[in-house]
Amino acid sequence: MGEAAGRRLGVFGGTFDPVHVGHLVAAVNARHALGLDRVLLVVANQPWQKHARAVTPAPDRFAVVEAAVTNMEGLEASAVEVERGGPSYTADTLDELSRRYPDAELFLVIGADVADELDSWERMEAVRELATLVVVNRPGVRPTKPLSGWKAVSVEIPGLDISSTDLRARAANGRPLDFLVPEPAVRLIRQRGLYAGGR
Ligand code: ATP
Ligand code: MG
Repeated sequence: MGEAAGRRLGVFGGTFDPVHVGHLVAAVNARHALGLDRVLLVVANQPWQKHARAVTPAPDRFAVVEAAVTNMEGLEASAVEVERGGPSYTADTLDELSRRYPDAELFLVIGADVADELDSWERMEAVRELATLVVVNRPGVRPTKPLSGWKAVSVEIPGLDISSTDLRARAANGRPLDFLVPEPAVRLIRQRGLYAGGR
């Protein structure tokens, strides 16, 4: 990312272990609804909330996201958290992006499940200052509590009951990932032997 960010920049963070079409439908619809120049899929280095389980190495998760957004206009994998190393805090990422792109307006895309967790975020006030939230619906997640004090908009997407947790379980017992994960990403998962070979 050396070039100009565009004035309206979407930031969509996740563990992406692995990325799936739910993520991509969220990203393209957030981009469309808000008129964003680009949406960065920011791959968490160490997702500090997920220490209960072993996470796939960050370079592999990043490469699979890159494969997933190949030829997708306006979507881009971002290694900003992977390159920073250590635990991944959104506040640090927004700080870094606002320094890198001083003219950009930042939009933080999150699913409805994440919207309910914002209070627990590291330096939550900084996140609130630096970005407008774009909340997308997610099946099984009830309407979120009011986001008072936040700049926030909702974007309605077709409900896709897909999660990385379920995909890992599918792969572990030999069920296919096809059509739930974009095809170039499935191919890379197979090549690298990730997720039990990504059958
Ligand atoms: P896991 O099951 O491991 O938590 P996940 O599918 O929730 O994986 P994450 O990487 O945790 O994926 O999520 C990244 C972001 O994408 C979060 O903001 C999450 O709310 C959102 N998201 C994930 N899946 C969907 C979906 N099916 N529909 C809408 N948003 C989603
Ligand atoms: Mg999740």
